[in-house]
Amino acid sequence: MQSTPSSTPSLSSKLPWVGTTIFTVMSKLAAQYNAVNLGQGFPDFPCSDELIDLITKAMKAGYNQYAPMEGLMALREQIAIKTERLYGYAPDPVSEITITSGGTEALYAAIATVIHPGDEAIVLEPCYDSYIPAIELNGGKVIRVPLTPETYGIDWERLTNAFSPRTKLLIINTPHNPTGTMLSGEDRHQLSKLINGTDILLISDEVYEHLVYDGTVHQSVLYDPILRKRAFVVSSFGKTYHATGWKVGYCIASAALTKEFRKVHQYLTFSTFTPVQYALAEYLQQPEHYLRLPQLYQQKRDYFLQLMQQTRFRMLPCQGSYFALAAYGHISGEPDTDYAMWLTREIGVAAIPVSVFYQERTDYKILRFCFAKREETLERAVARLQKV
Ligand code: PMP
Ligand code: GLN
Repeated sequence: MQSTPSSTPSLSSKLPWVGTTIFTVMSKLAAQYNAVNLGQGFPDFPCSDELIDLITKAMKAGYNQYAPMEGLMALREQIAIKTERLYGYAPDPVSEITITSGGTEALYAAIATVIHPGDEAIVLEPCYDSYIPAIELNGGKVIRVPLTPETYGIDWERLTNAFSPRTKLLIINTPHNPTGTMLSGEDRHQLSKLINGTDILLISDEVYEHLVYDGTVHQSVLYDPILRKRAFVVSSFGKTYHATGWKVGYCIASAALTKEFRKVHQYLTFSTFTPVQYALAEYLQQPEHYLRLPQLYQQKRDYFLQLMQQTRFRMLPCQGSYFALAAYGHISGEPDTDYAMWLTREIGVAAIPVSVFYQERTDYKILRFCFAKREETLERAVARLQKV
């Protein structure tokens, strides 16, 4: 159809089923109704002053031009040291580590690197909201395999049956957003057995690698020589250092995969904010900052779960991440999206409806609460939730 000179030519949407993300919607609604925002996942306590000073120092020292495309070498070296300390494997900083503009960019670049039109990519639902659109934007076909409701374990038979000759990619996420569950060592072995000898690549979204509780070990795929050869492992400094607004992350992948990954990364963003890279390279030399995270966040999780006992919500177990799930089907029959909106408007607490993490919006009447908050914020939220 021809457009008139004054009108915008019509555009065929590449993501016709996508709207504004629920995180943006709920944060706006929370602000509008002055609700306590336990929706979008971000800490409400400050990040380290020392880290802020290091960024200022880098800026004042004149590090304000483009960083190297692959990321600052000093930072990549520190990531290699950290990775070896934690997972017993030292990736080569030259050829296997790339600094990205957040975990989100790493995920997108990895998906774009792997997926050609018509390729199949398997996601385990519920899943983080950026995976499916990124696969579709690259012409891939999404194969959705549900995790078992409420325990959110992998149904290995279903996953095996989802594989086809066109399967190029499997995306996993541990600790898991939105459910707070984690892969076990046994899961990791199963995964390794399942894809050994296939051509299937793996994206392992490990942005919550440090937020693990009750002494549980984060089962990074980097432990496993079979898995790490075929994986893009994604991490985020935003999560690790309570600074989600900085959008700095990284991707670890074998040299062959990284070579292709960087071809995409260099045309997506080229490079990532320079001063933060200098600051992180220095700050990472003090491992206690990330080693104490499990304790810090476990206290928050325990406090939140304990407070929630004073409400009618049924809390599901949380092993890791920022998030705890609350079932409310015994309280209300409303769809979770309506219920989350009502809770924000009328009760004054924002949460994320878990159906948004399923492409078909499967509704089990469960809400996701973010407990990465100060104690007083959690107390204020729960005082309100008691009215339900
Ligand atoms: N993956 C998961 C599971 C997440 O929860 C997030 C947080 N938004 C990201 C990736 C993206 O991380 P970043 O904010 O560093 O882009
Ligand atoms: N990862 C965060 C969450 O799951 C938010 C990310 C975003 O707002 N895009 O809440």
